Amino acid sequence: MVSYKEKGLFIMLMLFISGCSRPPQLAAVPAQVARVEASTTPTAALPTAVPSHTSIPTANHTPTVTTTQTATAPPPTLTASATPTPTTEPPATVSPTVATPQATASAWPTIDPTWLVHPPTELDLSRAHLWFARPVDGNNNPSAPYRFGMTYNQRLSPHRGVDIANDPGTPVVAVGAGTVFYAGEDIETLFGPKPDFYGRVVVIQMADPWEGHTIYTLYGHLESVSVTAGQPVNAGDVVGAVGSSGVALGPHLHFEVRQDEPYSYESVRNPEFWYRPYAGRGVLAGRLVDVNGVFLPGTQVTLECSDGTPRTVETYWDQYTAPDDFLVENFVISDLPTGTCRVWAETPDGLVEQSVEILPGELSGVILQIRP
Ligand SMILES: [Zn+2]
Repeated sequence: MVSYKEKGLFIMLMLFISGCSRPPQLAAVPAQVARVEASTTPTAALPTAVPSHTSIPTANHTPTVTTTQTATAPPPTLTASATPTPTTEPPATVSPTVATPQATASAWPTIDPTWLVHPPTELDLSRAHLWFARPVDGNNNPSAPYRFGMTYNQRLSPHRGVDIANDPGTPVVAVGAGTVFYAGEDIETLFGPKPDFYGRVVVIQMADPWEGHTIYTLYGHLESVSVTAGQPVNAGDVVGAVGSSGVALGPHLHFEVRQDEPYSYESVRNPEFWYRPYAGRGVLAGRLVDVNGVFLPGTQVTLECSDGTPRTVETYWDQYTAPDDFLVENFVISDLPTGTCRVWAETPDGLVEQSVEILPGELSGVILQIRP
């Protein structure tokens, strides 16, 4: 449960921010750390995409998708909410920092018609990979309004990783055994859409491949780097310290998982199904699809779980945050309490809901679809 103290703190922070003489576009930025994402529109397509629809790319911030099966589909339902997802874990002790973004939502990518994934009917959980430790020797709660594929309430481009707020200087640790692939500034060697995007960054090639793929983990916006390329590391080894170098709005770790292509901004996967949940907690991967079984982008999914704490997550907004090869999911949320969760969403076809059991240390799955 969220204590009144925590709720009060959040409200006070919101009042503080909205009371400041900041530019209007910053007035409602939640008091958490985020990072401005791509200012370019990459071109890669999803490997698993099976286009069965025609969609009309739009230049505005709300994807409008027209299918050949139905006349029009309303834009995704988005309930703008700055409510963070509270957990029973200790809250971050950092002071929220809001800086002027270096890019705005005008960099919004348009919807590529080829990305509307039509996944297989079943959800294959047999190749789950909750392998890694957590990346910070400190707070490890990802920013709830800006999980992988989400947009910070349509203020930022879809997120390629997770943001974990901590005080500057907090140790950042390797999540598993591997070899340092890169350590230093991303000015001449690029890992993002432009130079000095991640600032000081460490990339580790993980020792164990997965289903024939090489897995990399990326640690961005570091204050300092304490490893060198070629150096072997093990889980828990310090690789640097939390900072706000590169394009960052405040001190936090931006953590990514990349598959096969370490330099590619398109090779990201959702980190929340790569690292282990907290002890006694579980992870849910899900798929929200329309009546024809095709991904519904940018739609809020609500969870009501055994601890009574409200949680929401949004489905991936665009084609640049690819799903897992086997899960073919479009949302993931970790650190859920064990027991039954009711999971529901409002879709253009109506309300859809399911119940799912969350098991400690395991990945559960759910498909949300109104059957035709
Ligand atoms: Zn980030």
